[in-house]
Amino acid sequence: MLHIFRPYAHPLRAAIAVFLSIILFTLLFGSCSSEPFDPVREGKLLLGTTVNVTLYEEGPDDIFERVFDRVEQIERKMSTSKDDYDTTELLEVNRNAGIRPVRVSADTFEVIRRALEYSELTDGAFDVTIYPLVELWGIGTADARVPAEEEIQERLALVDYRKVQLDREAQTVYLPEEGMGLDVGAIAKGYAADESRRILKEAGVDSALLDFGGNIVTVGEKPNGEPWKIGIQNPEAGRGRYLGILSSGPMAVVTSGDYERYFVQDDVRYHHIISSRTGYPARPGLASVTILTDDSTEADALATALYVMGAEKGLPFVRDRDDIEAAFVTQEKEVYMTAGMESALNVSHEDYEVLPWPAGAQAAAAETR
Ligand code: FAD
Ligand code: MG
Repeated sequence: MLHIFRPYAHPLRAAIAVFLSIILFTLLFGSCSSEPFDPVREGKLLLGTTVNVTLYEEGPDDIFERVFDRVEQIERKMSTSKDDYDTTELLEVNRNAGIRPVRVSADTFEVIRRALEYSELTDGAFDVTIYPLVELWGIGTADARVPAEEEIQERLALVDYRKVQLDREAQTVYLPEEGMGLDVGAIAKGYAADESRRILKEAGVDSALLDFGGNIVTVGEKPNGEPWKIGIQNPEAGRGRYLGILSSGPMAVVTSGDYERYFVQDDVRYHHIISSRTGYPARPGLASVTILTDDSTEADALATALYVMGAEKGLPFVRDRDDIEAAFVTQEKEVYMTAGMESALNVSHEDYEVLPWPAGAQAAAAETR
């Protein structure tokens, strides 16, 4: 007699089989999905630095490409590097200074609009019209040199953010005097980082880290629930050597300092952050300023501005802003921090000393309130 094996003919047998299948499925596939995802990183040379994107969870196949394309698009619109581009929207605005308003894209308009906002907020410590001086000094290029005093004064007369004319309706920018120029080098990296975060979020990526050479943005939480840990550059050492570690939830962190781009002549270091008051590299007695907030555009602009302002003016400036934390590192290796920064940043390098809020800044803070 032919025996037909009908394994699940009995209801109890069927139930046991289903139960065992579920266990087997869970062991095989369930264990795979709960296994930690190894972070995946890709980098690309953009904006004069390496833009690194690290995913802590899986994203769409083309996600790196999408981010890099967006950053490249921003570079093509806003670069002032004549070696890399015959023209960009920003170069067109500068070339038409004293001639006519230039229509720009929504991106460029937005960056200039925000740059003007920070120029005003910081009373010109950040000045988006610094371009004539940046071009004259050429710091970071093969033409870097100490200009003659007359050249500096001539260019200084062209720097004044209050003269920039924006027309929101027409989306145009006008520089009313020949020789004027815009430079968004101190803010557009932050904007590109914010845009990259937006792209990742829209693609459903909930855990990632963006590093734009000193501009860090985190996306969501770390998969293990621990805070993000970011190394803050030691201004005295090369890239990758840390002053301390900053631990925080989702954030944007930007550090500006005199160590990024500079040349030395007769033992004097001439660096790339220029004072719109003197026309020379700013000498605030600082080595660096780190800003912690959740908006990278703002962090970028303020890191540069507060570096120019120095600790005495800068500390009172950030003191009353709940949404901004700052660390000021002086040339003497002293570190002054806002309360929120102090609880986030562990200054571990033995050469640096964390000091309480200086008395001078207390007084200035009282005056500004
Ligand atoms: P930050 O402090 O954020 O900015 C300093 C820069 O801001 C200076 O280099 C100057 O450009 C400008 N600046 C100086 N003083 C002031 C001031 N008082 N107020 C406002 N702004 C000031 N680098 C390359 O080597 N090659 C490139 O092709 C190149 N292309 C770029 C294109 C774009 C769109 C951007 C945003 C940057 C590009 N860079 C390039 C880098 C750029 O030249 C700057 O060096 C860089 O943005 C400085 O960033 P930072 O974080 O070191 O310093
Ligand atoms: Mg900046």
